[in-house]
Amino acid sequence: MINTSLKQLAALLGEKKISSVELTQVYLDRIATLNPELNAFITLNEAVSLADARAADARIAAGNAAPLTGIPLAHKDIFCADGWRTTCGSRMLENFIAPYDAHVVSQCKAAGMVTLGKTNMDEFAMGSSNETSYYGAVKNPWDKRAVPGGSSGGSAAAVAARLAPVATGTDTGGSIRQPAALTGITGLKPTYGVVSRYGMIAFASSLDQAGPMAKSAEDCALLMNVMAGYDERDSTSLERPAEDYTRDLDRPLAGLRIGLPREYFAEGLSADVAAAVDAALAEYRKLGATTVDISLPNTKLSIPVYYVLAPAEASSNLSRFDGVRYGYRAPEYGDLTDMYEKSRAQGFGTEVKRRIMIGTYVLSHGYYDAYYMQAQKIRRLIAQDFAEAFRQCDIIMGPTSPDTAFDFGDKSGDPVAMYLSDIYTIAVNLAGLPGMSVPCGTGSNGRPVGLQLIGNYFSEAKMLGVAHQYQLATDWHTRMPENI
Ligand code: GLN
Repeated sequence: MINTSLKQLAALLGEKKISSVELTQVYLDRIATLNPELNAFITLNEAVSLADARAADARIAAGNAAPLTGIPLAHKDIFCADGWRTTCGSRMLENFIAPYDAHVVSQCKAAGMVTLGKTNMDEFAMGSSNETSYYGAVKNPWDKRAVPGGSSGGSAAAVAARLAPVATGTDTGGSIRQPAALTGITGLKPTYGVVSRYGMIAFASSLDQAGPMAKSAEDCALLMNVMAGYDERDSTSLERPAEDYTRDLDRPLAGLRIGLPREYFAEGLSADVAAAVDAALAEYRKLGATTVDISLPNTKLSIPVYYVLAPAEASSNLSRFDGVRYGYRAPEYGDLTDMYEKSRAQGFGTEVKRRIMIGTYVLSHGYYDAYYMQAQKIRRLIAQDFAEAFRQCDIIMGPTSPDTAFDFGDKSGDPVAMYLSDIYTIAVNLAGLPGMSVPCGTGSNGRPVGLQLIGNYFSEAKMLGVAHQYQLATDWHTRMPENI
């Protein structure tokens, strides 16, 4: 059951071979056994999950089921879910019960999906290892000495360990793709604006985008059909006709031109990852694709640009957490200013404070032109690099992450080393393009490797098809960690 695809699960539910309550119980039991060590979930509520499942069973019995009705899923704890504690991995929101549903959550509910719980994440989605979570790090199910990646590490570990059939994540600089790579699952960050950010706690609003995390590209496509779509409550939500993201799954790859950015196969890439990615490219050639060398010359500027723009936006977004309206308030303080200062000093962790300070600095008078405006200009150049590349190829491929999962503590004392682990993912967010990670092998340490796919704007369906064809020919996506 736990390795069954969403399509097969939906068929079993439709034929009444299993009920949603039974299916949900399978996952709740696995969570009860495995989560105490993995720490993938921050909040669970069995009674609510089972009530969702009973409602789904009634809907199936009444004959008006949608494609994913009755299927359980886990939501990253960045999405507000009515009645659920929504912490965003922080102490600041430790006791915050969301009074409404994020668009993504309401879409999943409307589809009749069952909420299994809220998954662990780096505090306010800032991190690449889950080590900044106030609730403790998530362990990588493949090797508990290793990080699961971040910031959607809880969702990634939950899917990898089969504690959930599918999950939601968000990606501001790589937070769906990098944890997907490090835990051997498939994840998609859509084109900016395709999935509404309403009710998704804001980190860097011009970069944040939600997407599916699943065992396979086919499962991602099915969840995209539920998550995507115009929402007037997000001013950057794009008004486009609804799409069926499964439409290109069966499309053959003959003639596909794959661009290989020189800068993604250079210094800094581990030999293990390079070998697995090369093997995947060989498989694509067998499937009829051709490869062409391309260049994304401003790749090395993407990290410095991101670490000006994302903190700038974060410093503004996080100013709402002041101890007055909601969130943590220091128990003892003098005047109003002292209350703000103590609440924020105690409510935020080190990485979040570092970003707020950088962001406030680059936005301040005298530095705005020198840093923020410069970064905006380079952001445009980075987007132009991709536009140029897509004149020569249909899709770009390369590694998702320079290495397999690293050990706890390896990078947590060195922010710059941590930031560099997103070198291949961040430019995609700066350009607003869709990106995916697909499992394509393991390193000599047995830890998974991810192949990154980068498509042109709105090419999600095509990318999912390109990934699905590879998954029909290989079995990396079917492997699950042993001895969890
Ligand atoms: N690791 C990056 C950061 O720390 C990206 C995080 C994300 O995509 N949410 O900001």
